[in-house]
Amino acid sequence: MRISCSRVQTYSSCGRQYKYRYIDRLEPIVTPFALAFGRVIDETLSEYLVQFAYGNSFDLVTDFKSRFEAMFSSRAIKYPQHWDSDDALKTGLSLIESFPEKWASTNLIPVIDNDGRPMVQKEIIAPIPNSPHELHMVLDLVVMNSMNGQVAVLDLKTAAQKLDPESHFGHNTFQLTTYQYGVERTLAHLLEDGRVSNVGYMELIKRKIPKTKGQGPTVETPLFFPRRSRELVADMLNTYLRTIRELEQNRFLRPPNLAFNSPCQMCDYAQLCVFNDKQGLREREPYIAKVA
Ligand code: SF4
Repeated sequence: MRISCSRVQTYSSCGRQYKYRYIDRLEPIVTPFALAFGRVIDETLSEYLVQFAYGNSFDLVTDFKSRFEAMFSSRAIKYPQHWDSDDALKTGLSLIESFPEKWASTNLIPVIDNDGRPMVQKEIIAPIPNSPHELHMVLDLVVMNSMNGQVAVLDLKTAAQKLDPESHFGHNTFQLTTYQYGVERTLAHLLEDGRVSNVGYMELIKRKIPKTKGQGPTVETPLFFPRRSRELVADMLNTYLRTIRELEQNRFLRPPNLAFNSPCQMCDYAQLCVFNDKQGLREREPYIAKVA
């Protein structure tokens, strides 16, 4: 079986939700704003970073506007309170326009793979040891710090608020542990000692443009965390294997949550799960990133 980080995260939140999303391929007809916005920003910046690495000029603003128009005019979007498409476009343009200067200040450059391509939206399929199963992942970036030669996995994130660097999240997050493993398992020959030095996030904070004063959208300096220990990597692999065993037995159980903030409160499939009503859902089309 081939499995991904997002599949395991969905399954660990709720088996029933996993079935609706990945087996029945159902998605909400109305696309959440965060998903649509994040995808457009991600695609534009990925294309920019590829062209930048090749030394080509690239019109970020025109590219963003055209992707934004294609995404936001082709589907119904569920906006957060006090947001509309005009706010989204202005915020997106501000982030896109700020990105090149911030990126230049990081001294990071995408690592070039065996085929001479920058590692941007790099697809990796890595075996899970002692099993016939594989991990599938698409990495936003594998980067080298041009000042010290250190190589890191970097995930671009659009978020409503900044990650607290003091929080434990960045040190523990399953996604970055998976990415470290994937890179080291399949691309070790491109790395000094076969290891990445660290893993991290670069956040783009999607605040509205303030009408008078106050903080608007910001592109943050990347936050890096130490490379994962052997223990964390082993935990991560065991979590994948445990999930695969459950999936092979067709176990799609609802979670035993009792708190009001259980996944049911935020679940796109609650109407189907509770009342067997598919209204508001449709069959999902496969997603193909538009990166050259
Ligand atoms: S409503 Fe709750 S139990 Fe049902 S699919 Fe959603 S998260 Fe799972």
